[in-house]
Amino acid sequence: MDEDKKQPPRPIKPMVSKGGIALKGECTVAGDKSISHRALMFGSQVIGTTKIYGLLEGEDVLCTAEALRSLGVTISREHDKWTVIGVGVGGLCESLDVLDMGNSGTSTRLLMGLVTPYNFTTFFTGDDSLKSRPMARVITPLTQIGAQFQARDGNRLPLALKGTDTPLPINYTLPVASAQVKSAILLAGLNIPGITTIIEKEATRDHTENMLEYFGFNVQRQRLDDGSLSISVTGQPHQKLANYEIFVPADPSSAAFLAVAALICPDSDLLIRNICVNPLRIGLFTTLKEMGAKIEFLNERKIAGEPVADIHIKYSQLKAVTVPASRAPSMIDEYPILAVAAAFAKGETKMLGLSELRVKESDRLNAVLSALTACGVSARAEGDDLYVKGSPKIKGGATVTTNFDHRIAMAFLVMGMASTEPVTVDDATAIATSFPNFSDLCNSLGARISAPRPTHPSNPSPIVVAIDGPAASGKGTLARRLAEHLNLEYLDTGSLYRAVGMKVIYAGKDPSNLTDAMEAARTIDIEDLANPRLRQERIGQAASIVSAFPEVRSALLEFQREFARKSALSGRGAVLDGRDIGTVVCPDANFKFFITATLFARAKRRHKELQGQGIEVVFDSVLEDLRERDERDEKRAIAPLRPADDAYIIDSSKLDASEVFKKSNDLINKTIKNTSS
Ligand code: C5P
Repeated sequence: MDEDKKQPPRPIKPMVSKGGIALKGECTVAGDKSISHRALMFGSQVIGTTKIYGLLEGEDVLCTAEALRSLGVTISREHDKWTVIGVGVGGLCESLDVLDMGNSGTSTRLLMGLVTPYNFTTFFTGDDSLKSRPMARVITPLTQIGAQFQARDGNRLPLALKGTDTPLPINYTLPVASAQVKSAILLAGLNIPGITTIIEKEATRDHTENMLEYFGFNVQRQRLDDGSLSISVTGQPHQKLANYEIFVPADPSSAAFLAVAALICPDSDLLIRNICVNPLRIGLFTTLKEMGAKIEFLNERKIAGEPVADIHIKYSQLKAVTVPASRAPSMIDEYPILAVAAAFAKGETKMLGLSELRVKESDRLNAVLSALTACGVSARAEGDDLYVKGSPKIKGGATVTTNFDHRIAMAFLVMGMASTEPVTVDDATAIATSFPNFSDLCNSLGARISAPRPTHPSNPSPIVVAIDGPAASGKGTLARRLAEHLNLEYLDTGSLYRAVGMKVIYAGKDPSNLTDAMEAARTIDIEDLANPRLRQERIGQAASIVSAFPEVRSALLEFQREFARKSALSGRGAVLDGRDIGTVVCPDANFKFFITATLFARAKRRHKELQGQGIEVVFDSVLEDLRERDERDEKRAIAPLRPADDAYIIDSSKLDASEVFKKSNDLINKTIKNTSS
C-alpha cells in the first residue's frame, strides 16, 4: 500500500469568488515569507536576542520555528512580537524527533544546510506535496560539504541527513537559479572553517545575503567578469553578544494577488502599505507596468536591509507582453496570478522559460493551464512556455483543482472577482500556508469570497443555531454534531469564560475580584481557547464566578456576535452553545435549543466522563459542584441561564446523544422544508 495513503484525510475547504466587485481602500498584507523564515533562522545563529515584529504566522513559517525549537533554540511569541534566543554558530543540538516541515520547501532546504556542519543526524519529513518534491539540488552541494543522506526514491522526503564535524568549505556554481540552494549552502557555510563561495549565473533572491549583513556576518558579494555573481561567507566567526530587532516587511508575492485583483476589477483603487520591493522580488510589478498597469511605488525606504514602499494600484486596461525567461527567478511564484492578469489583457501574453514551475508545490504550469482552460480562457503550453490569449470578458463558472497549491487557489479566486460567472476552488486550505487572512482581507476591500454551498442542502441562506443549557446537559455534544452534519462553524462560548477563569487562576489571582477578572478578559486570545487546562473542574467553577460580572460579559459579547455575523456573511453559518446565546448573544438565531436534564442525570454523566479521563472524584462532589454552578448561572443578575421564549426545549435526562441530535436535526430539516416550499 502507498505509505501516503495511511495519513488521515485532510479537511477540505472549497471557496467561491463572485464577480461584479471593485477593490477599494488601504491595507497591508502579512509579512514576507522568505524574510520571516530567515529572521528566525539567522536569529538562532547569533549570540543574543532577536525580536521580530510582523512575522508571517503562516504554517510554513511556524514549521521553521517548530523545527528550530526541536534543534534546541528557544523561540517565544507575545502578541505580535516573536523572540528568538540565539544559540550562536555551532550551538544547535540533535533533535529528539523527526522534523515535520509540513508543506514548506524553503524550511526544509534551508534547515538541511543549517544542520549539515553538525555531527548528528536529522530526520526530515513533510506533507504529501512536500514528499513529492525533489531534494537532489540541495543534496548534491551538501554532500560535497560532507553530509550523508538516506532519502526515499528520487531523493525525496522522508530523508535522514547525517551531518559532519569536519565540513569542507566549497566553491559551488549553482546549476539552477535557486535562492533556496544558495541559502542552504550559506547557512552551512556559517559553521564551516574558511570561506564558502557560491557563484550564481542568474541573480536569485538575496534576502539571505541582506540578512547576513544585517546580523553582522562576513558576506562578500562580487560581480565576476562573465557577469555572474560570487557570494562568499566566512565561517565560524568570533561572535559577540548583540541584540537585534527586525520589522518584517510585507510580502510582495501576497500583495501581487491584491494588485492584480485591483487591476482587473473596474473602478478599483487600492493602496497596499509596507511592501518589500527588493528588485529581485518584483518582476511581477515590472511586468504589470509593461502591460500598462497604473501602479505607483510611494514612500520608498529601507527596513532591515530591505527596500520597502507603499504601492498604489488602479483598475487598468492591460495589454499583452512577452515575459523573458530571464525574469523568471524574480517572479517565479507570481506566474499563476500573472496568467490571470494576462487573461484580461488585450492580445496574447507569452511567458517564457517556466521549467521551474513544474517542481513547485504542484506542477504549477499544468495546474494553471487546466484552470485557465476550465474558466474559458484560451491558453496553451509549448515546452516550458505558457501562452495566454486575453479577452475583456472571461466566462469563469468553473471549479478549479488546486492540488493543495496556495497560489493556484488565490489566483483563481481573484479570477472569479472579474469573470462573468463565479469561480470555485476545490480546496482553499493551502492558502493558510502563506496568506492566512486572504479571503477576509479581500472581502473587507469589497470582494465576495465565501464557502460555496449553502449550509443546508435545501436552505439557500446560512443558518445560525443557538444552543443553551446547564453544565453537562449534552449541549456541547449536540452543538459539535450539528456543526459537523450541517457544515457550520462552531463556537463553544463557555470556553471564553473558562479562558478568563483559567487566566485568573493561573496568575494566582481571585476570580471573584472584578479587576482581576477584567484584566484576564482583556487579554484572552484565540489560542487560549484550545488550552487543555480549560476543561479542569476548578476552571469551570472559576468561569461561572467571572461570568456573573456584567463587565466581563460585555467584554466577551462582541466577539461572540462577530463570530456569528462573520460566519453568516461567509455563507457558511454557525452553531454557538452557552448559557445566553438564544436570549442575549444571538436573539435572532434561526434555531434555538435549550438542552436540559435533571441535576442527578447530569452529575452521573459528568462523573462518568471524569472517570473516563482517569480522574477519580466522588459522585457527591460532582453533584455539589454542578448544583453550585447551576445556582450561580440561574440567579445572576445579568444574562441568567433560562430558555429563550422561542427556544425548543429538550430534556435529555432519558435520551442518549444520538437521540438528542436526531430530534434537533429533524426539527431543523422540517422547518427548512416548510419555509422553502
Ligand atoms: O459551558 P461551560 O461549562 O464550559 O461554561 C463554563 C461557565 O461559563 C458556565 O458555568 C457559565 O457560568 C459560563 N458561561 C456563561 N455564558 C455562556 C457560556 C458559559 O455564563 N454563554
